[in-house]
Amino acid sequence: MRRWTRWLPLLLVLLWSPGARAGAKIKVVATIPDLADLSRQVGGDLVEVQSIATGVEDIHAVPMKPSFAVLLNKADLVVLMGLEAEHAFLPGLLEAARNPKIMRDAPGYIDCSVLLTPLEVPTRIDRSLGDQHPMGNPHYNLDPVALKDAARAIADGFSRNYPEHEDVFRKNLDAYLAKLDAAIARWKQEAAPLRGKKLVSYHPDMIYFADRFGMQAVGTIEIRAGVDPTPSHIAELEDMMRRDHVDVVVRELHYPAGLAATVAQATGAKLVELPAMVGGVPEAKDCISLIDYNLQAMLKAVQGSA
Ligand SMILES: [Zn+2]
Repeated sequence: MRRWTRWLPLLLVLLWSPGARAGAKIKVVATIPDLADLSRQVGGDLVEVQSIATGVEDIHAVPMKPSFAVLLNKADLVVLMGLEAEHAFLPGLLEAARNPKIMRDAPGYIDCSVLLTPLEVPTRIDRSLGDQHPMGNPHYNLDPVALKDAARAIADGFSRNYPEHEDVFRKNLDAYLAKLDAAIARWKQEAAPLRGKKLVSYHPDMIYFADRFGMQAVGTIEIRAGVDPTPSHIAELEDMMRRDHVDVVVRELHYPAGLAATVAQATGAKLVELPAMVGGVPEAKDCISLIDYNLQAMLKAVQGSA
């Protein structure tokens, strides 16, 4: 009895030390559910993925809960949108988490925007103006072609950290890209009625979607990203919408409903309410079903107004 108990502490250390557990999964923390989906697609059985934000939140205003710092402290990899999309929560959480593997510029810090050409890159950055998009528009998760670049960046990041599994990551990536390509071909056909239609959204987060499907994003209810509307801004917006025959007002589900509905009603545009991230509505379970949902909702609005 005494001899056995002497070895108990060592046995416990061996059992609980993550490095000693054969087949332990790679712990991935994604900032948003869309990137959690892509990380699962690329990582397959090798990874265990959790998301910080839920799909009903505003990516620019995710609260910094202590539990997220704990999660990041134990993470092997962090997967993010980049372009400062996570400025409200990620830098502070990473500082609190004190995990050298995933600090900015460490190999485990996987920025999904690195292969992308961002839209709306400002010529002048002025945070004092309250702009939430200082590095260009970060809402590329609504564009399926940009998602291909994000998935590739994840496969690159995973392979950089775990070269022994590179073959698996590449195989999973190829399978997912093929699935996405098939969906993109279908969406391009389905989106034909959207071509040339104009939209105004609450926040400037529809530009990649609009560009991809031939629509024009011509204005926002916010004055700028993160800057609340004023009555004079709304009056000017409504004048422009009537003059330019804007078809649709998009209310992203995490923004207030009343004003978007009023603007739509005042200008004769159709109101369409869309999730901005995976999980924003129950139907948007992953990146592909999110784009499906948004495309169908947009088609219904546009065709209903024809
Ligand atoms: Zn934004």
